[in-house]
Amino acid sequence: MQKNVPRGTKRLSMFDKTYDVIVVGGGHAGSEAAAAAANMGSTTLLITMNLQNIAQMSCNPAMGGIAKGQIVREIDALGGYSGIVSDTSAIQFKMLNKSKGPAMWSPRVQSDRMRFAEDWRNMLENTPNLDFYQEMVVGILTKNDACIGVKTSLGLTIKSRTVILTNGTFLNGLIHIGEKNFGGGRAGEKSATGITEQLIELGFDSGRMKTGTPPRVDGRSLDFSKMIEQPGDDNPQKFSYLNTTSPLTNQRSCHMSYTSPVVHDLLKTGFDRSPMFNGRIQSVGPRYCPSIEDKINRFSEKERHQIFVEPEGWNTVEYYINGFSTSLPEDVQFKALRAVKGFEKVKFFRPGYAIEYDYFPPTQLQHTLETKLVKNLFFAGQINGTTGYEEAASQGLMAGINASLSVQNKPPFVLRRDEAYIGVLIDDLITKGTEEPYRMFTSRAEYRTLLRQDNADLRLTEKGYRLGLADESRLRLMENKKQQSESLVSFFKSQSVKPEEANPVLESKQSSPIRQSDKVFKIFSRPNININDVRKFEAVNQFIESNDLSQEIIEQAEIQVKYSGYIAKEKNNADKLTRLEYVMIPDAFDYSQIKSMSSEAREKLNTIRPKTVAQASRISGVSPNDISVLLVFMGR
Ligand code: FAD
Repeated sequence: MQKNVPRGTKRLSMFDKTYDVIVVGGGHAGSEAAAAAANMGSTTLLITMNLQNIAQMSCNPAMGGIAKGQIVREIDALGGYSGIVSDTSAIQFKMLNKSKGPAMWSPRVQSDRMRFAEDWRNMLENTPNLDFYQEMVVGILTKNDACIGVKTSLGLTIKSRTVILTNGTFLNGLIHIGEKNFGGGRAGEKSATGITEQLIELGFDSGRMKTGTPPRVDGRSLDFSKMIEQPGDDNPQKFSYLNTTSPLTNQRSCHMSYTSPVVHDLLKTGFDRSPMFNGRIQSVGPRYCPSIEDKINRFSEKERHQIFVEPEGWNTVEYYINGFSTSLPEDVQFKALRAVKGFEKVKFFRPGYAIEYDYFPPTQLQHTLETKLVKNLFFAGQINGTTGYEEAASQGLMAGINASLSVQNKPPFVLRRDEAYIGVLIDDLITKGTEEPYRMFTSRAEYRTLLRQDNADLRLTEKGYRLGLADESRLRLMENKKQQSESLVSFFKSQSVKPEEANPVLESKQSSPIRQSDKVFKIFSRPNININDVRKFEAVNQFIESNDLSQEIIEQAEIQVKYSGYIAKEKNNADKLTRLEYVMIPDAFDYSQIKSMSSEAREKLNTIRPKTVAQASRISGVSPNDISVLLVFMGR
């Protein structure tokens, strides 16, 4: 019997309340989910295996890039944190694809890895309604096919109205380096057990995927004079539409080097010990982020592959060797890297490795990311078969929003494919599923001229504001940008320019002269005429200067003018499809009764159970003819 404990004292539970939302996992998905739910007023608990590793970048220290940069801007416009943290922790900024049309421009930052995690943690600690706890969740609590909380490895049960699982690469994670393998969710961290097994018992399907990461090295051992310097942009921009940070005034450079036939031969000496080639790893890896051994095997005709040498932060000597992801034995990695120009004396900080982990095919989810099988249970991030921080973060945001809305008995929030890359991502996952790690590309978005990085705020801020995520200042900034850019475009449409003023400019650009006054808009629409040309017209320059229009506004108006034809065409197509988005299919619809539909379509539709005809039309194996038959059957 314990002394000094009054008789009848009950064991005090640390968790005596029922949370609105429990988020399991503090990676990119979990952090955004927790922030969104808490900011929407839901009492939220973020429970993760190691609070030191919140929003840890498991692989490259960078955010954004092609299509991914658009996602970060969308998260920011909706009121998520990824854009802000990407800015505060940036060490270099680049707008990729600037030589192509604006639909392809994609912002990317090189990040200070430690600062990124630290800033995320600070942001979360300053978020109201959010509690933290460090523990491993080993299962969910269920009652009547609904999730009512979680249980932990210490035997605690914590109650909640909704649960969001964001376990990343941790579910039964198995790390491979050469012939060695051991359990782990990420190098130096243990794997998570229990959840997969329980979910399978509950009727979920699960699969196995793999991914890999390159070695990290000591920058003091590299000879950068033998490499090609890759500086950041001269006029760096930033991700967040808010004025919380300024663009970088100082940047760190990356460098580039190449592999060679000698490096390839050295790598090949390890193939028989490689888990990739001796059959020990069977699961599917990211097609567009292959390991170096995969590259030299698949593209054997190529004599060299690029290697990007990326600093890990402002104040560290550690470098990330992008393009050299590998699970070959560490001695082979080392020998081969030493044969790369500039790496002759390289010292390793950490070897590369591959990891296999469990995921749950995302066709088991609704568009809200709630599971179809267990009510109030949501999945977000790598657990859904995606790869990448941005893909994970955006799903986390959407799951956090929808969990919160469900607790508040409000209608769900779903983004359409013509509204956001986030809409494309989730729709692809739910209607098509994925058998290999899913990564976003601009080519996946059929309305990419509408879904640009420069207009994510115009597309989404108001939605974020109505959800209670984007605050008033965000809304005002967006409205101001909209009003100013629209007034500049209207000015271009109404202002004429005389031949005497226009023709010298047109001739200097080998563009045919005009015979009578013409609208600035029409001249500006010509392919080889840019903003600097039309600014030579006095009235244009005066309008811009007297209204003190920023570079962002001018660029926005320029895109609206130069791409007006494409934008109108895509809008028109999107509007047509949107009509099908609102043709609802009854929940219990029995596809097997439609004999004139292909049997593949019947089977897929019965399994995936799309909510709308538009969703049905995007399922692979469902043809336009099947959709016509479905519409006829539904009496449309
Ligand atoms: P994670 O970032 O993995 O976070 C999961 C979080 O959940 C962790 O904090 C973990 O501690 C916690 N957790 C897990 N289970 C539990 C539990 N049961 N209880 C409590 N907490 C739990 N992406 C690319 O785009 N390109 C690449 O080349 C690439 N390579 C990668 C290589 C490696 C080795 C790894 C590990 C990842 C790689 N990634 C790559 C993927 C990228 O890291 C992920 O896509 C992204 O981090 C996923 O975010 P997430 O939030 O879903 O999960």
